[in-house]
Amino acid sequence: MTTVTENFSFNEQVNRNFDRAAALTSHDAGVLSQIRACNAVYRLSFPLRRDDGRVEVIEGWRAEHSQHKLPTKGGIRFSPHVNEDEVVALAGLMSYKCAIVDVPFGGAKGGIRIDPRAYSVAELERITRRYTYELIRKNFIGPGVDVPAPDLGTGPREMAWIADTYMATTSGDLNALGCVTGKPVGQGGIWGRTEATGRGVYYGVREACQNADDMLAIGLTPGLAGKRVVVQGLGNVGYHAAKFLSEAGALIVGLAEYNSAAYNADGIDVEVAFRHWQAERNLTNLPGTTGTTRSAEALEWDCDILVPAALEQQIRKENAPRVKARIIAEGANGPVTPNADDILTAKGALIIPDAYLNAGGVTVSYFEWLKNLSHVSFGRMERRYEEAASRRLLGAVEQATGKRFPEPEAASIVHGANELDLVNSGLEETMCSAYAAIREIRARHKDLIDLRTAAFVGAIDKIAGSYKDLGIWP
Ligand code: NAD
Repeated sequence: MTTVTENFSFNEQVNRNFDRAAALTSHDAGVLSQIRACNAVYRLSFPLRRDDGRVEVIEGWRAEHSQHKLPTKGGIRFSPHVNEDEVVALAGLMSYKCAIVDVPFGGAKGGIRIDPRAYSVAELERITRRYTYELIRKNFIGPGVDVPAPDLGTGPREMAWIADTYMATTSGDLNALGCVTGKPVGQGGIWGRTEATGRGVYYGVREACQNADDMLAIGLTPGLAGKRVVVQGLGNVGYHAAKFLSEAGALIVGLAEYNSAAYNADGIDVEVAFRHWQAERNLTNLPGTTGTTRSAEALEWDCDILVPAALEQQIRKENAPRVKARIIAEGANGPVTPNADDILTAKGALIIPDAYLNAGGVTVSYFEWLKNLSHVSFGRMERRYEEAASRRLLGAVEQATGKRFPEPEAASIVHGANELDLVNSGLEETMCSAYAAIREIRARHKDLIDLRTAAFVGAIDKIAGSYKDLGIWP
């Protein structure tokens, strides 16, 4: 089965974006073909004994797109729509994404074709552990080989099962915890990973909105405050993106889930909406909003920024002409089809591409992996030293001026960075510098108007450069 919308499968969609950018580079055709190709795909199936005694065959995949840097890295998705084309497409996107944000990994992706809501927790655990075991048998997982992470339908719980299975079967590997990221903090995870992708979406949108020229070009005023936002998907990425955007002063006017959506032109309280969604699994009856069961219509609602954060291929040639948002912030992977991309670009909308915008997750996964390999949490060595130094400096200033700082202010000045502070700072730096680099590439190519192609040009240049560094090509 292949995910086909319009004339493009999801993988063809990723390759089309690649080809457009590749044409703007001067790399050898053979090098470009190698960068574009998916290096390895492992298709597996195994039996699951359901709680009621029936046996069912479970199908899954792991694709390793590029090993120009090791390990390869990419999430694992549990969804009834998973198929090989989708997994290969997402693995390719991971290669480009890692290159764009300078995370030294190749790209990979995994998927199991199940609806996680149709299985008990015990069944999901059996599925996850058996999948991990199959990956171990074929050398498709390991801290220096291939490192999965959460994606659609999976989270810290599944990552903990993967880590435990890996450690149980590879005794003596000192770095075993680095075989997967997105783990619970108590089991080798890192503070800030859960919300990292949504926080990264916020940083990326904020960067875009800060740029006066770009905002002027699409008819918006600079700055995030007061911008009207619609978010599709209230899962990990969508909820956190909505939360951080609204905390920064944006107005969340619409929220959409797979079965319902809610709108309020005066703004929706994200926390209230999220709690309501979790309890009721329905947004039509969210107090203070106008609800609908035709949730796809939310993509066409009046707003400044649309954040599709659910699934691929949501904005297509049929609905793209009706999309009113001036900024499309791709929280999900591949939410805009190539035809829709052309339509939106022709309408002058600014698309902040997935390969950049949702890279916060892999960025903090990289920090988690580094923490696992170094066996020490960030900030542990220097935090108190820094606090003591700041306290001495503050004391000297107080003595010289004869004035005392009030305690809350003093405490905030001497506060030494803990792990979460450092993770968020590293993430912000990554998202800001990558955005600047993409804009810079766009400015260098006179005919280039879209950020997606610019981001891909940057990724291709970096991957080609690392093949060169490896001495594989001249
Ligand atoms: P998730 O499972 O936590 O959330 C997805 C949400 O979308 C769910 O609440 C689901 O009910 C909802 N949804 C499904 N179909 C929908 C529809 N038709 N309309 C509206 N809502 C719908 O998954 P996630 O981790 O938030 O991932 C979302 C997207 O972001 C995916 O494309 C994923 O590949 C991408 N992504 C995730 C991460 C990460 O760190 N989790 C990182 C990068 C990219």
